[in-house]
Amino acid sequence: MLVFSWSLVTLLLVSSSWAEADVATLEDFSKELPVGQLLERANRDRTPDFDEPTLIGGDIAVKPGADRNADPCTSTGCLWLKNADGNVYIPYYIANHYSSREVAIITRGLESFSSVSCIRFRPYQNGDHEWLSIESKNGCYSFVGRQGGAQTVSLAQRGCLYHSTVQHELLHALGFNHEQTRSDRDSYIKVYWENIQDGMSYNFNIINTLNQGTPYDYNSVMQYEKYAFSKNNRPTMMPIPDPNVSFGQATQMSKNDIDRLNRLYKC
Ligand SMILES: [Zn+2]
Repeated sequence: MLVFSWSLVTLLLVSSSWAEADVATLEDFSKELPVGQLLERANRDRTPDFDEPTLIGGDIAVKPGADRNADPCTSTGCLWLKNADGNVYIPYYIANHYSSREVAIITRGLESFSSVSCIRFRPYQNGDHEWLSIESKNGCYSFVGRQGGAQTVSLAQRGCLYHSTVQHELLHALGFNHEQTRSDRDSYIKVYWENIQDGMSYNFNIINTLNQGTPYDYNSVMQYEKYAFSKNNRPTMMPIPDPNVSFGQATQMSKNDIDRLNRLYKC
């Protein structure tokens, strides 16, 4: 893989300008990184515009006055509606500032749901009342669940255009929270509060999540990695009882992510 990547770099350097090669190779090198690392990198030091929402948990958008400890899906109901044919059609609009390559990454993420669930993302049509507006804003983020009207899913061109990050933000929009905030989290993870950056401990608040009878999944695409929000390069969370199991390494939806989705929407 490394050999392939290097030859790709060489090819790009020879065949295109420095500017083009810079962007392309940066993306290619990091596409294998776990989703949590990609999200943290993309959202680190972000400077939101005045019209952008507040983020909690790293990449979850919240409306002003929202109860940050409640799961919006369980407290108010935020599931997308089911069609008579059993599928859940969710309109989306992709902003026109993306390149065709970027649109292809987003579209692949959208379409990855149809082969494993009854979720069908489809292009926005006149007359739709609620839809995902996929835009390159500052960072990667999404609201949790259906909000009504247009709801922004931000996939910044720099840092958020990976299969895993697209799936992660779409799972938020479908109603899911982070694995590390699951109601049964403390049975599976030890949180090292002393290693968390100042003011960031609310990212680890347990909420009443939609577990759907699925087990805690260390390699869910909704699980951040061990060093998430660390202030001292020491882990902020470790799996228990075995600290050596694979943790926070997902690069795509896991079987449990898919099971949870199918149960939530009764696919
Ligand atoms: Zn997230």
